[in-house]
Amino acid sequence: MLKVNRLGEVVQLMMGREMEGTVLYWTAAYLVDGLLIDTGCAYTVEELGGFLEKQEVELVVNSHHHEDHIGANAFIKQQLGLEIYAHPLAIPLIKNGFPLLEYQEMVWGYPELTEVQPLPETIRTKHYSFEVIETPGHSLDHIVLFEREKGWCFSGDLFVSENLKVLRADEDINGIIASLEKLMALPAEELTLYTSLGRVVPDGKRAMASFLEYLRDLRQKVAGLAGESLTAPEIRDHIFGRETQMAPLTGGHFSVLNLVEQLMPKE
Ligand SMILES: [Zn+2]
Repeated sequence: MLKVNRLGEVVQLMMGREMEGTVLYWTAAYLVDGLLIDTGCAYTVEELGGFLEKQEVELVVNSHHHEDHIGANAFIKQQLGLEIYAHPLAIPLIKNGFPLLEYQEMVWGYPELTEVQPLPETIRTKHYSFEVIETPGHSLDHIVLFEREKGWCFSGDLFVSENLKVLRADEDINGIIASLEKLMALPAEELTLYTSLGRVVPDGKRAMASFLEYLRDLRQKVAGLAGESLTAPEIRDHIFGRETQMAPLTGGHFSVLNLVEQLMPKE
């Protein structure tokens, strides 16, 4: 399914695989001034392709290599003849592929492989200039695009919510923190976050500050309980009550335990 939301100059493209009338998981791509940021998953290629054929699109950026951000790359290259750019670390993964877990295959599917180009430092469109900022943490190849005058920040999967409770097994919470601190220091009074979950956060700096404070508190709580010799699962249950339902559904790839384990004090 594809839903198009027009947010002023920014067009938000919400996409997800539909099963029995329900969309399993929404991922957002954005189209702004001829620049397409991310291309959805393998199950929404036709819908996105059909929409893009009627739009003026000049170039495409993948925020990172994950399968729900590169799905329509091959269509875009072959049918629309557009160039696609990504972080150098993403290029071999998008070109050669990478294994998906069972749930990822079901929800997003395997994207067709494509050659993409390394991102320049700045992406220029007709009216705007988007700075490419490396923001590892969610993945090593994650970038965000920042338009200084507008205060737009297309933040991919870097920022999820102020009180994040689950983490992917392959995410690095310290990387996420460092990347958010980098965004906090951007020269824009008002930063609007356009997230890949579809949430648009008008006061992005306040939201990120609140998330960083939440994490500091959480790290302290975890350290306190670890000091009382509680294990990571015991700490999880103590603070959050229980594990998320996403943990069994994803074979533990998404879990509260991942977050707690990463916040445990190191020896
Ligand atoms: Zn991702």
